[in-house]
Amino acid sequence: MTPNAIRNILILGGGSSGWLAALYLKRFLRHVPVKITLVESAQIGTIGVGEATIPSMVRYIRQLGLDEAEFMRRCKATYKLGIRFDDWLEPGHGYWHPFGLAGGRIDGIDLFHFWLRKRLVTADPRPYASFSLQARAMEAGRAPRSVSQGSPMIDTGSYAFHVDAGAMAEYLRELAIKDGVKHIFDEVTQVHHDETGNVAALDTVGGRHLEADLFIDCTGFAGVLIEKAMGDPWVDLSDQLLCDRAVVLPQQKDEEMPPFTRSSAQEAGWIWQIPLSHRKGSGYVYSSAHLDDTAAADRLLKLAGFRRARAADPRFLKMRVGHRTEFWKGNVVSMGLSSGFIEPLESTGLYFVHRALDLLRDGFPDRAMAPALRRAFNRQMGETYAEVRDFIVLHYVASRREDTDFWRAARSVPLPDSLAEALDGYDEHGQLALRHEACFAEANYFFILAGNNRLPRRPTARATAVDFKRVASILDQIDAQTDTVIESLPGHRVYSDWLHSQPLED
Ligand code: FAD
Repeated sequence: MTPNAIRNILILGGGSSGWLAALYLKRFLRHVPVKITLVESAQIGTIGVGEATIPSMVRYIRQLGLDEAEFMRRCKATYKLGIRFDDWLEPGHGYWHPFGLAGGRIDGIDLFHFWLRKRLVTADPRPYASFSLQARAMEAGRAPRSVSQGSPMIDTGSYAFHVDAGAMAEYLRELAIKDGVKHIFDEVTQVHHDETGNVAALDTVGGRHLEADLFIDCTGFAGVLIEKAMGDPWVDLSDQLLCDRAVVLPQQKDEEMPPFTRSSAQEAGWIWQIPLSHRKGSGYVYSSAHLDDTAAADRLLKLAGFRRARAADPRFLKMRVGHRTEFWKGNVVSMGLSSGFIEPLESTGLYFVHRALDLLRDGFPDRAMAPALRRAFNRQMGETYAEVRDFIVLHYVASRREDTDFWRAARSVPLPDSLAEALDGYDEHGQLALRHEACFAEANYFFILAGNNRLPRRPTARATAVDFKRVASILDQIDAQTDTVIESLPGHRVYSDWLHSQPLED
């Protein structure tokens, strides 16, 4: 260990991001003598939402060597193969956004280009998403694994989970404490800086004085360290993403238990429905400039089948849309809601935490906190937020809804340059030239754009250079192979009942 090595890490906050970080850092640094302490207030609650994930969660549990079945049992999880978008293009219309690719790449380019060529030449009615195994499994209500727990039949990493946020934090907490993370319930009231401006120590209500070399701010929207102590300014994105409120509701178990998140467009935003093994979660994400809280709650309660609000206990949340200017400042690294927030339309909240952890691991500092490491981290986190922002804005601009003020406003927000450029290339010949693809690559754009019936003017030349008969036969083969795999998969409900009836590990 070098003399300047980090010896003490303090994580402030015990929501999903705090415990994801604690377990990750403890396992990453297991052969190094580093003390990790997590401090959380027993009075200030966690946000308690964040139940749909993307495949970064599968990567996270594999990186940490966790058992997937045990993780699912402990987190009351179900499988998620993608998202069903209802009424987004216009009322009555629906489309799929599956994980993974549709059929794979052919001659080095996405199947999309061949599908487009066939569609434009022969008016083939099969949607692009129908060539995706995940989309077909979602439609048929199938799980991605067999009950015997062999390897997933749906490509590794191209599925995710719905998790109970509270149960997941508890599970991660147990594992982290078992691994040696020190856990303290206390509330931080004062922050001390050293002569360089870095955080030196934290004072608490309980009379503690806590010192550390590196501080991880997981205090949610409060941003106790990164914002209040280090003064990092917030980059506001509310001119591009209009939704700033949510009302959430725990519901009864969904008898159908679909292997996907449902997002249904509403008068002033959208409603999510997430199936867990023991209940269903739902929430209305909306713009407070276009809808008041009571009307939003009424709509959600009606959809959930409740007659009176009191019986359902809806919870209201204010959301600040945007992100940090510097995600890592001095010796404070922000993660989770203290680092940024983009509406959860594509379930990216926990992904931002996974991304920050991977980047911190790759550029792990010593006590000198080299500016080059911070700059690299901040640049890459900034790109990650920009990438997700573009992709979320895309869902609104691809819609044709004109029926409310909200939809007219949401569709005509100022487009980020990067998105405008990607759409120009797409509209011409289906090539997007994305600047950054850590989370959403071109296939994700194809699902959203083709799902909304927005097609390029012509196929790209590389697809037209291929023998047309070969294109038709490849599409038919993929179609037939997909049918065979779907037939072999168990129903998601059957799988879930089996999985959750198995005993938990001690
Ligand atoms: P919180 O959960 O707010 O935790 C903050 C912690 O800081 C608490 O433990 C609190 O006690 C502690 N704290 C605060 N101040 C102090 C202090 N002074 N002293 C000591 N402790 C303190 N993400 C997804 O991945 N998928 C989704 O489907 C999804 N849906 C969402 C829906 C909504 C409506 C919202 C708002 C968010 C959603 N997210 C989603 C994001 C997700 O909820 C968060 O990224 C995730 O829960 C992480 O929150 P957090 O741990 O950063 O903050």
